[in-house]
Amino acid sequence: MCREIVGADALKTVTRGGRKYIVPVEGACIGCGTCANICPTQVIRIEDKETVRTISIRDEIIGIHPLERCEGCGKRFATPRFLEYIHHRTLHHPDVKEHHQYCPSCAKLFFKGKQPMPSR
Ligand code: SF4
Repeated sequence: MCREIVGADALKTVTRGGRKYIVPVEGACIGCGTCANICPTQVIRIEDKETVRTISIRDEIIGIHPLERCEGCGKRFATPRFLEYIHHRTLHHPDVKEHHQYCPSCAKLFFKGKQPMPSR
């Protein structure tokens, strides 16, 4: 997932004692959280606490990232490295007309032509 879908290539497999393990590639994680969201064993976990996202594998922290605010509702939702990565990947895509920093909920509203609600 990290290599083929996200493109960050921040995870690799190593063999220890005849068993394969997923381990982090130092400094490569952009904090998207995709691996944790699809991990069937919940060995990879994501925790968002106030302004910080922590990604861990088997209780070993592999990334600590600040969280940026959604420009619609103000909720903290994504890491700066992830947002920058997406911005670069979509910069020259012919279907991308504008760039926004919306959380998934506000992006849905924006897509439907409604204005996101600012947070209180
Ligand atoms: S959170 Fe990090 S390790 Fe997991 S898929 Fe995203 S970039 Fe890869």
